[in-house]
Amino acid sequence: MPALLRGGSLILPDRVVEDGALLIDDAGRIAAAGPAAGKEAPGRAAEIDLGGRLVAPGFIDLHCHGGGGADFMDGTAEAFRTVLEAHLRHGTTTLAPTTTVAVHEQILAALETCARAVRAGGFGLFDEGRGAGSRVAGAHFYGPYFGPGAHGCHPAEPVRAPVPEEFEAYLAFGGLPEGGAIACATVAPEVPGAEAFARAARRRGIRIHAGHSNATLSQVEASLAWGVGHVDHLFCAMSDKTKLRREEPWPMRAGLLEAALLLDELSTEVIADGVHLDAGLLRLAYRTKGPDRLALVSDCNRALDRPDGEYLFGPEAGGEPFVRRGGVCMPPDGGGPASSCQGMDHMVRTFRELTGAPLPEVVRMASLTPARILGIDARAGSLEAGKIADLLVLDEGLRLERLFLQGREIVL
Ligand SMILES: [Zn+2]
Ligand SMILES: [Zn+2]
Repeated sequence: MPALLRGGSLILPDRVVEDGALLIDDAGRIAAAGPAAGKEAPGRAAEIDLGGRLVAPGFIDLHCHGGGGADFMDGTAEAFRTVLEAHLRHGTTTLAPTTTVAVHEQILAALETCARAVRAGGFGLFDEGRGAGSRVAGAHFYGPYFGPGAHGCHPAEPVRAPVPEEFEAYLAFGGLPEGGAIACATVAPEVPGAEAFARAARRRGIRIHAGHSNATLSQVEASLAWGVGHVDHLFCAMSDKTKLRREEPWPMRAGLLEAALLLDELSTEVIADGVHLDAGLLRLAYRTKGPDRLALVSDCNRALDRPDGEYLFGPEAGGEPFVRRGGVCMPPDGGGPASSCQGMDHMVRTFRELTGAPLPEVVRMASLTPARILGIDARAGSLEAGKIADLLVLDEGLRLERLFLQGREIVL
């Protein structure tokens, strides 16, 4: 049934429209978005009062490993449902399940389950009318092609260089533009075989990210020609002038960190949980890349909405232990944070608080910009006519009050 939502402040990509209205069509798409004045509900449309609240497009998370106790690398439909339900409660309506370093069969299992979800428009793991979770956009193929010594919180042992005998089995799941299951894939540009992997993935329309890498600026620049267009979690698990100096003291050289800031061809993302990066680094990323080339991501693990304690990052069989303590996840022996246990709602609130960036830009970095990076911006990511009516109703503090998936309200 069509619906008219009125009496809320619409967060459009470039401005906030006070006293706005959204018309949703039978197919769950936005038919019109703008000032409420003059908008009438067509004959049988339901009218919904937004009570003066803010309305944002559903958040889109292009880097997410788990939540609610499960990790996508557990590989089963049940694990996927658990993660997707958990992130929906935090305002993520579309998500790219992110694989991690694991053995071959575990990666295949996660991709297979992801493909099942994608085939049915992203909701393929939920029976009609039973349960609801974030829509699966397509996989973010993440591990195992990381740089040696840049594995971060992932287990070191199965990190490996790409060889066609192996990666062809992953790429056979296909890229999103060809109706396949993989949206994007990460590789460290400096590992042998990176170029062949990137070119093979690009031929299938898969977007290429550089991450977990100790590449130099010139290696990153060379990788632009193979299709690298994005850098994973800026400032984390990457080379910079200080790290590269350990091999060659002078002249100091730029690494992946500086490349991400310098090169306009590259978009990037930040884990804005307030734990990984301080306000200064978030401001630097925002100032340098701007809201159209900087996405907010959760990089969330299975400890989202779970109590403090010990968990596994990656698959239950062979994952890497970490400890969640008061909203911070770290290796059992201490050290820096290792992925987050927060959803996109927290990232949006924290980024806004720490940078003071305008609200439409902060929301854009959590919706339209990641949609563009994943290649799904024609159908999702903003309150604009023709797009899926995935909507969040937020209070003044940007806390989630109500949520609509394809125009249908979901009880949170
Ligand atoms: Zn990572
Ligand atoms: Zn990650």
